[in-house]
Amino acid sequence: MKIHGFNKLTLLDYPGHLGATLFLGGCNFRCPFCQNAGLVLNPEAEPFIEDTEVLAYLKKRQGILEGVCVTGGEPTLFKDLPLFIENLKALGYLVKLDTNGSHPEMIRSLFESGLIDYVAMDIKSSPENYDKVIGCRNFSMDAIMESATYLMNCGVDYEFRTTVVKELHSESDFYRIGEWLHGCRQYFLQAYKDSENVIQAGFHSYSYEELEVFVQILKEQGIDAGIRGIDV
Ligand code: SF4
Repeated sequence: MKIHGFNKLTLLDYPGHLGATLFLGGCNFRCPFCQNAGLVLNPEAEPFIEDTEVLAYLKKRQGILEGVCVTGGEPTLFKDLPLFIENLKALGYLVKLDTNGSHPEMIRSLFESGLIDYVAMDIKSSPENYDKVIGCRNFSMDAIMESATYLMNCGVDYEFRTTVVKELHSESDFYRIGEWLHGCRQYFLQAYKDSENVIQAGFHSYSYEELEVFVQILKEQGIDAGIRGIDV
């Protein structure tokens, strides 16, 4: 497993908990609006942090930090992820997994082994537009559907979230997502934020008021939707 970033203190990444965040390199998607272009496209060029260094720091912070957020890139690509998380659990940490949902078997195995306490899964778009938004042609939705259904039924704490991009999403996507994920627990919309680190430049965000329209569409489908990470 390749750790390429370590945020030693975060109030934001793990809802309700003081935590740390680990960034793993590599991803099987190529979302053009991705904020971690370096981690996704060329992880080998990013700084590398030894597992032992991370675990030693977390051992010192036992009782102060409560949770560890494992993000990417896409963490579920790593076969040794369960082994690494076992070390975090041995230190007493809650573990949150951020995932694009493309490896349902890994999500299932982690939860059934008691290794994850919270999952944040990206819902990139409506099923019909997924391949456009993730930058991968002829993408099969089977794994994404399986992960979403599993999270909605397995009993783990979870959220779904969508980074909303003006050029990539429209009202019809949220009507379709509402039909698909009807009955899900929590759903957050996040406005796209431009930065120097995106895979493809030139995208824009919707306004808060425009995002509220999408939230309303989801709420009409019985989804507890909200907006996160935008200044009003
Ligand atoms: S946004 Fe997430 S899923 Fe998409 S390319 Fe970046 S790391 Fe991968």
